[in-house]
Amino acid sequence: MQEQQLTVALRIRPISGAEAEEGAAVAARRAGEQMVVLMDPSEDPDDILRANRSREKSFVFDMVFDHTATQEEVYVSTTKSLIKGVISGYNATIFAYGPTGAGKTYTMLGTDGEPGIYIRTLDDLFRTLEATTENMDYTVSMSYVEIYNEVIRDLLNPSSGFLDLREDSRGSIQIAGITEVSTTNAQEIMQLLTKGNKQRTQEPTAANKTSSRSHAVLQVTVTQKSQRKEVGEEVRTGRLFMVDLAGAERAAQTQNRGKRMKEGAHINRSLLALGNCINALSEKGGSRAQFVNFRDSKLTRLLKDSLGGNSRTVMIAHISPASTCFEESRTTLIYAYRAK
Ligand code: ADP
Ligand code: MG
Repeated sequence: MQEQQLTVALRIRPISGAEAEEGAAVAARRAGEQMVVLMDPSEDPDDILRANRSREKSFVFDMVFDHTATQEEVYVSTTKSLIKGVISGYNATIFAYGPTGAGKTYTMLGTDGEPGIYIRTLDDLFRTLEATTENMDYTVSMSYVEIYNEVIRDLLNPSSGFLDLREDSRGSIQIAGITEVSTTNAQEIMQLLTKGNKQRTQEPTAANKTSSRSHAVLQVTVTQKSQRKEVGEEVRTGRLFMVDLAGAERAAQTQNRGKRMKEGAHINRSLLALGNCINALSEKGGSRAQFVNFRDSKLTRLLKDSLGGNSRTVMIAHISPASTCFEESRTTLIYAYRAK
């Protein structure tokens, strides 16, 4: 099977205790069900999702993970295969998309006991590089930033203020003044990222959860240099972006006003710009007339070299299966389904 440029996956997290209780109360009134999202694996090869009864609708994705999926399974199916490409000098991007509380950070960062895609990817990357016997020197550097209200902040050095995007002499996008870390100790990295994650801009919304209002971007750069002195020069650079996107809830739902509303507008604008870029890039062949406007948001500008072209893109959309999340799950499914 030829590897696809764009993969859209869906992860449905387990129902939480609170949702089960809330859902039971609602269900008692409406004689409905608590779980409104179902994975239907019977229709092989496609997994079909069902939202129940009169409003039932099916969506098809490249992959679907339900509440039984482990962190390892999600990592292996979505991300592991990108590593080889990055080592060979290709770029790739993986996104976690979805409303607040749907499991984006769990998938990307995870917990100490159940680490997510960030750590599993880095672990595998280091292991693969160690086993590589070519006459090459590899360096890996890592940075972790957030994009909040169209401003970039260094999550590994939050006091460094706002950072700018620059194009280097070869036309590739760089973040000026960013902290780059090159440790290969997974435990140390997990600590750095967990600490960095706590620096993310978060606000309680009327939806009564702590919402991440920023996109968190872990950027991993692999540089390959030949050991032969006469070649000497840098040979290849591959870059992998792993992005925990801002909560995709709609302003109407969170009843935001003032500052919150402005944030919401920025978030929606960058998610829309991202959706448009991915959508334009996913159109088949060269017949596409649509212009891909990376300049529409900081996020798409930063990712410009890693979306489309020879780059591979994976989007993991996240939803809760609970009846109480029906509307936001529906909007998420529509966004993710349209991305392709
Ligand atoms: P988000 O980042 O999308 O706002 P989180 O990743 O913080 O959501 O998840 C919300 C809560 O649900 C957290 O307590 C998290 O640990 C839990 N959770 C999310 N996904 C899963 C999962 N697949 N398995 C177990 N717990 C999960
Ligand atoms: Mg989160």
